[in-house]
This record gives sequence, C-alpha cells and structure tokens, in this order.
Amino acid sequence: TTPNSILEVNGIEVIYNHVILVLKGVSLTVPEGGIVAILGGNGAGKTTTLRAISNLLKGERGEVTKGSIELRGERIENLTPADLVRRGVVQVMEGRHCFAHLTIEENLLTGAYTLRDRAEIAANLEKVYAYFPRLKTRRTSQAAYTSGGEQQMCAIGRALMSSPRLVLLDEPSMGLAPQIVDEVFHIVKDLNAKERTTFLLAEQNTNMALKYADYGYIMESGRIVMDGPAQELASNEDVKEFYLGMG
Ligand code: ATP
Repeated sequence: TTPNSILEVNGIEVIYNHVILVLKGVSLTVPEGGIVAILGGNGAGKTTTLRAISNLLKGERGEVTKGSIELRGERIENLTPADLVRRGVVQVMEGRHCFAHLTIEENLLTGAYTLRDRAEIAANLEKVYAYFPRLKTRRTSQAAYTSGGEQQMCAIGRALMSSPRLVLLDEPSMGLAPQIVDEVFHIVKDLNAKERTTFLLAEQNTNMALKYADYGYIMESGRIVMDGPAQELASNEDVKEFYLGMG
C-alpha cells in the first residue's frame, strides 16, 4: 500500500454478461485528501471503473474478474454498496438521479440512510446548505422542477449527507452550461479544502477536470494510457491534441 492512499485499484478486469471484457487491467491510486480525475471519451470505461469500486456492477451484469480494490489497505470487493457507504465511500451516479417527486430537502435526507444520530443528520443538512446555498433556497421545491445544475448539486449534496470520506463523482459536468459546471467544481474544491473530502471523478470534460483536479488518469478502451499531475497533463502536447477539445 502506498502511504497516505485512501484507495488503491490494482489491475482490475471487468467483464459484462460473462463475455465482454471492458476493463483490461486498470490500476490507480487515490491519495487521502486528493481530487483525482479519470478522463477519456465515451465508452472508455470510466463509469465501469467507478462502479467496480462502489460494487454497483451487479445490477449491470458486470463483475470484477481479476485484480483487487483496497480502501486504506482493506480489500473491499466483497462489500455491499451500503457497507461501503458506512465506511465512507459514496457514489454520485451519472445523470444525477434525484427523486423527481421529492423535494430537494427530502432528496438530501434520503442520503442519510446509514446514519442513526439525528443531530448528525441535522448538522450535515446545514453543512450541505452552507456549501450549496442554491439548495437551501430551493429546499421545498420538487426536484423535477429544479434546473439541471440544481439537480446535480442535489445529487452531490445527498451523497454528502452520509458523512463520506471518499466521493466517487461520475461525469458531474454532463449536460450543464459551462458556468454551472464551474460553480459545481468550485464547490467540490471547497469541500476538498475545508472538509478534506477526497474525490475521484470521471469526466469527459478534460479542460474543466484538469483545472480542478490534482492528478489525472486518461483511459482509452478499458486501459489507463497516461497519468500524471493535472498541470502536467494540461500542458502535455498529446493531451492537448487528443483530449482538450472534448466535453
Ligand atoms: P460514458 O462517458 O459513456 O459513461 P465511460 O468511459 O464511462 O463512458 P463505460 O460506461 O464504463 O464508459 O463503458 C465502457 C464500455 O463498457 C463501453 O464499451 C460500454 O458499451 C460497455 N458497457 C457498459 N455497460 C455495459 C453493460 N451493462 N453491459 C455490456 N456492456 C457495457
């Protein structure tokens, strides 16, 4: 185990439907307190990597067939998604997935399902509202009637309700206007700085992700093809040529 790493993925392979090999030996390390981005185009395997970590592949008929995933040195491949939430690992799925008929506040409260302490739940709600003032303004609105940006904030806020240490964030920029993406990433950065919440995010929007992440991994066809500190990747000629226009 690398010192200070919260998460280590070692050579994982993922197969869907028993036959389709989608991840072909993916390894990555997430340092405690970091913001790490997995970059790459459509179908590169970013979502599959996040789902493998949070054990959400079963519903998709996928399974990890090789390699290991360790959280602070402990193997986690056999833990349920709820076990992982209790250990501080929570995933914000692509496409936001707010409950349309619930209010913003009700949506947020569903994120606290692993907590028993009412005072902790109330404190987390206030904390979410402090980071996302827009959600406080919209607390009684039905999610269906809020904007895409507010729904993304709601999805992240809901994840924060479980007091996570590691948040897996799938394509937070998807479908959002650039200034809203900036606003969302700004809050991620703020949470990282003030709460020391660690983020592992998957993004097609390379520009934006490299602006906010410390470190990046670039995926292509189920493999990591390049990795490095975000600033180095952002100034790398190949990255500029092949990826910086995306997203
Ligand atoms: P996106 O940005 O579109 O989510 P991605 O990089 O996250 O792209 P994945 O969603 O992980 O990529 O998909 C990687 C590959 O696995 C793609 O070729 C996709 O078609 C395939 N795949 C994803 N889910 C399944 C599934 N449930 N069954 C079979 N193949 C799948």
